[in-house]
Order: sequence, then C-alpha cells, then structure tokens
Amino acid sequence: MGASCYLCERRYDTINGQSPGDAVGACKLCGVLACLAHGMRNANDPAFICGCCVPNLLTVAALWHLRGGDTPPRHSPDDGQASPKSPSGFAQLAPGISKLEDLITDIADDQWAWIDSDIEYLLKLMVDREAPAALRAFAEPEAIVARTLMAAAIAIATKLNLPSDEMHPMLQQAMQAAVVNRYG
Ligand SMILES: [Zn+2]
Ligand SMILES: [Zn+2]
Repeated sequence: MGASCYLCERRYDTINGQSPGDAVGACKLCGVLACLAHGMRNANDPAFICGCCVPNLLTVAALWHLRGGDTPPRHSPDDGQASPKSPSGFAQLAPGISKLEDLITDIADDQWAWIDSDIEYLLKLMVDREAPAALRAFAEPEAIVARTLMAAAIAIATKLNLPSDEMHPMLQQAMQAAVVNRYG
C-alpha cells in the first residue's frame, strides 16, 4: 500500500484525465503528497508540483507579468502568500512561466481539451468594460500574457473545486469576481 494523496483525501476533482491513486511524489512548493491525477512535473524544472499549487503558481506568474516582469519577484512580499511553507518557490518559478505550456507540458493532449473553452470565456469576461474591479488590471491590451495565465488559474481552480483557503489572495478575488459575473 502506498502513501495517500492529499488531494484525493480532500476529494478535489482531477484536472488532467489521469486516474487517482497512490501518491507518486511530494510537491516541491507546498510539500503535500499527490498522485498522478493531482500533480505534474514542471517543464523547465523537473520537480513535482501538486494540483493545488498549479493555479496558485499561475496566479503568481500572472501577477509577475502584470507588473512588467522586470523586478526580481523574490523580493516582493506579496508573492509568497500562496504558500507559507515555501515562500520563495513560487517567486523563483514564476518568471519561467509566460504561457500554459511552460508549466503544463502536456497541455496539447486531449485530457486538457476542457480548458480551452473555459479560458476563452474568462478572457472575454476580463476585457469586458463591465469587468469586476478585481480583474480590471488584466484588461489592458498589453496584459495579454498575464490575462491568459490568470484565466488558466481560474479555470483550473474551478475544475479542482479548490476551496478558497487553498488559494492565493489574488486568485480568491478573481474567482469571486468571475463567479459573481457569471451568476449575478
Ligand atoms: Zn490524488
Ligand atoms: Zn503543492
């Protein structure tokens, strides 16, 4: 019998079409054990990252690009909030992520097909003139990289059914804004 997956225990949905099972690794960013259906390896840095950290890391990368991406993010105090256990890990990885493929190497596979329409919907929402305040910073034409990463973060957090206490504060705000806009 293997070690159990934290995300399976908390009954989070799967995101990549793999079958849930025993944990195959510990997340480099937060340390939880995760199974194949709830974790992935980073393209640039072959380390295991759990499903909870994926949307949070995309959020940190989105914020880094939104600020112009020219200052070393590890010195920004608000970058570490997603993971008190590894405050610098997110900031170190964020500059290497400017598109979804940089984090999710198999994003072109069928198991990820669901994400395209969700991202498309969210991108439209974020450039809407009536966009909620939390998302407005992403509406600028030059913020397309940040906007796409943020949309992917929202889509994945939604698919996982991630509770807000597992989310980076910006992701919490963006999720609330997206939900209010969709159902309000
Ligand atoms: Zn699992
Ligand atoms: Zn993690």
